Amino acid sequence: MIYCCKCPQPDTRPGIVFDDEQVCSACYQAELRESVNWGRREEELRVISETVKEKNGDFDCVIGVSGGKDSHFQAFYARDNLGLKPLLVNCAPENFTNVGRANLENLVSHGFDLISIRPNPVVMKALTKKGFFEYGNPVKPSEYPLYAVSWIIANKFDIPLIIQGDNPAETLGIVEDTDTGGNAYSIRKHNTISGDASQWLYEGIDLRDLFFYQFPNELEGIRSIWLSHYVKEWSNTGNTEFAISKGLHGRPNHDPSETGKLNSYCSIDSDIHILNQLLKYYKFGFGFVTDEVCYDIREGRMTREAGIELVRKYDGRLSRKYILEFCDYIGISEYTFWKTVDKFVNKDLFYRDSSRSIWRPGEWVPKFKVGVDYVPRKENRRNYPSPNEVF
Ligand SMILES: [Zn+2]
Repeated sequence: MIYCCKCPQPDTRPGIVFDDEQVCSACYQAELRESVNWGRREEELRVISETVKEKNGDFDCVIGVSGGKDSHFQAFYARDNLGLKPLLVNCAPENFTNVGRANLENLVSHGFDLISIRPNPVVMKALTKKGFFEYGNPVKPSEYPLYAVSWIIANKFDIPLIIQGDNPAETLGIVEDTDTGGNAYSIRKHNTISGDASQWLYEGIDLRDLFFYQFPNELEGIRSIWLSHYVKEWSNTGNTEFAISKGLHGRPNHDPSETGKLNSYCSIDSDIHILNQLLKYYKFGFGFVTDEVCYDIREGRMTREAGIELVRKYDGRLSRKYILEFCDYIGISEYTFWKTVDKFVNKDLFYRDSSRSIWRPGEWVPKFKVGVDYVPRKENRRNYPSPNEVF
C-alpha cells in the first residue's frame, strides 16, 4: 500500500494509477484542470445545449438526482446557465432518510419537473443481501438503477441529452475502464456497475424484475455528458455551498466519529451508504474521509498533513446503530454481519486484536499507518519507487 505524495490516496483504490513520481491519477487530473482552456469547454457545452434545444422536444435533458448537493448544482446550472428545460429523475433509495426526502422536495420546489422511480423494494432488499454476502458491498445493486433510470427515461421520452455530475476518472482518478473527458457514455464500463443484470438473478428474481437495473439496448440519438468536465466551478465544497444557499439541509447532529465522514451534506439520503464505507475501509484500507480530504487538498483548501490527521481520526469509524439498522433491514444477526465482514477484511492490511471484543468494530486493527507507505509482504512487493518506510 503506497500513498500518493500529494494527497493521502492509497494505491489500493480499484482502478487508480500512480506515475513514476508516485503521484496518483486524481492529482494528475486536478493539475491538468488548472491549465484547461475553460472558455473553450464552456463553448463546447453551449453548442451541445443549443443543438438539443433546436430539437424542440418537451424536455431538453434528463438529470438523475438524489436531491443532494451535486443534484442542486446540476439542475440549476442546466436551467439557469444553459437555458435548458430539464426533467429530473430520482431513483428512491431504500430507507430514504427524512432529511433526504426534504432535500429532494426542496430541489423541486425551485420549479423543476421530477419523475421519481422506486424499484421494487422486495427485489432491492434481496439484492442488497446478495450484494453484502457475495461482494461485501450492499449498495452495489442499487448503483445500477441509479444510473440506468436516466437512460431509460431519456429513451422512453425521446430526450436527447443526459447531464451527469462528476466523472470518477477525473475526480477520483479511476482511470482504468473509464474515459477522462466529457463523454459519460463510458460509465457503463465502470467497475461499480459493470456486468449485465443477469448477475442479479437470485432467490426467484427473474430478468423482468430487473427492468430498472438494465441500460436500454437502443441508445441512438442520446448523448450523455459529465458536467464536471465542462464547468470550472464544479467542486465538492463549491457545490455544497451552492446547494446550502438554495436550502439544502445536512444530517442533523452530525458527528464524524459516528458516520466516518466529515461533510454532513454528503450521503444524506440513505444510511446504507455510510455502512458501506466501513466495508470499503476493511477491504481497501481507506474510507470516505480519505475521499473528502483528497478533494480539499487538490482544491488547495487543506494541507496533506492536516488531511492525514483527519483520515487517521475518522476513517473507518461507524456508530453501532447503523450496523443494527442494516442487520434489521436485511434480517440478519449482528453476529452474522461481523462473520461476513471477516471474509472480506484484507488480512494484509488488518490484524485481529484478540484482546478486543470479538463482534464489534475495532476488532480488526490496521497494520498500516495512514500516509506512510506500507508493503505487506516482501514477495508481493510491487515495483514502486522506494517507499518512505516499511513496517
Ligand atoms: Zn494524489
